[in-house]
Amino acid sequence: MLVEKFIIDEKKSLIEAWKQLTINGKGIVFCVNAQGKLTGVLTDGDIRNFLISTENYNSIIQDVMNKKFVYAHDKEDKRAILAKMDYRIKIIPIVNDDFVPVDYLENNFDMHIPIAVPNLGGNEFKYLVDAFLSTWISSKGNYIKEFESGFAKFCFKDHEPYYGVAVANGTVALHLALVALGIGEGDEVIVPDLTFAATINTVIHAGATPVIVDIDKDSWSINPDEIEKAITPKTKAIIPVHVYGQPCDMDRIMEIARKNHLLVIEDCAEAHGAEYKNQRVGTFGNIGCFSFFANKVITTGEGGMCITSDPVLADKLRILRDHGMSKTKRYWHDFVGYNYRMTNLQAAIGLAQLERIDYILKEKENLENLYREKLRGNPLLEFQRNDFQDRKKITWMISVLYNGDKQKLMDSFTAKNIEVRPFFYPLSEMPIYQKFAKKCVVSKDISKRGINFPTNKIVNIELIDKIGECI
Ligand SMILES: *Cc1c(COP(=O)(O)O)cnc(C)c1O
Repeated sequence: MLVEKFIIDEKKSLIEAWKQLTINGKGIVFCVNAQGKLTGVLTDGDIRNFLISTENYNSIIQDVMNKKFVYAHDKEDKRAILAKMDYRIKIIPIVNDDFVPVDYLENNFDMHIPIAVPNLGGNEFKYLVDAFLSTWISSKGNYIKEFESGFAKFCFKDHEPYYGVAVANGTVALHLALVALGIGEGDEVIVPDLTFAATINTVIHAGATPVIVDIDKDSWSINPDEIEKAITPKTKAIIPVHVYGQPCDMDRIMEIARKNHLLVIEDCAEAHGAEYKNQRVGTFGNIGCFSFFANKVITTGEGGMCITSDPVLADKLRILRDHGMSKTKRYWHDFVGYNYRMTNLQAAIGLAQLERIDYILKEKENLENLYREKLRGNPLLEFQRNDFQDRKKITWMISVLYNGDKQKLMDSFTAKNIEVRPFFYPLSEMPIYQKFAKKCVVSKDISKRGINFPTNKIVNIELIDKIGECI
């Protein structure tokens, strides 16, 4: 908000002041004289108390305002300014050398800090309205085609051929991929123990049998040695999950797949743009699956996509997405399909997000670097590895291991209104999945210690300091 929304002439009436602080919604105005210099501040509480005690409704601001007040100079260090503030002083004016208010600072420590906030500041609304006005609000329309080819192009770094098939969410992207690859009853599919449950649920929905294996202690993603141990004559596919933005060891995984004639579906729901040996995730296996849920790297509200370099497979995905209907003969069904389509409205948002994906990733990376810098040297904290020579992780959330009392720490964040997320529970710990699990030791340890800190535009140095204090 602009500082202008707070500024008012000290000669104006209390009613004018009341209007102004209602408009800015912050319950405070900065009062200035004819030269524009700051002479006082006035809050809704001040006005209320004055009117109750004097019943003098004709007073002007100058009679009521606080002439002694907390303020700061624009050259002062932001942290020094914040130190002047406490829970009673939530907003203070910042003045220049002429004592003219030029800015304000809000102490938002008590504000709810969500784990993630979608960054919708580009063409999202414009394209959404455009799609709406075009009346193509269902699952046909230009935004779908543009978003599909644009996102696939981003993942394949312009290397043709590439195809994107947009779907309703990341979960059905996984399910569609499994079905399109012919995976079903009697087949075993190897999945990691540390992942979101959609990875394994879709295997079960496809009628196949999941086989849960342990993760690697350094990357926290599926351990190739454990994959090899779990292979049987029934094994049909592997689903490596690039969990928390870290690429899996794709050379090893693809080599194992080739040797054993296995299919590979990459779960990239948390790793848009992450790279292994300069190649982006989602482009190694047969199909890469993405999610565009609101807390993912880019969002369409709900949404997902399958990407592939295989035109035949892309066709199959499209047909299955659309009820299994023949592409040439309407209402003729060659497969038992689904309605997994994305709408043009969602794709409009997605295209605008895609235009800024590099910026969004960079912004998140900068924030992670700030976290690392501020919280470095804390003996209880281990940051996610970002020093693998062959991998370029991306920042989804800020993922760390905490070697203290995690519940106590989580509670202290909750008390300060900062939303943090524990890591996923290992699948192998949940009774419904236990029967599918191999012995998993590492995932239990990582899961027990893992916490995600928020990444969003509200997070700043002060908040990271606050997080540091909790730790
Ligand atoms: C979010 C997520 C999914 C599912 O995506 P939705 O769009 O929420 O259905 C699948 N796998 C992983 C690893 C995820 O994080």
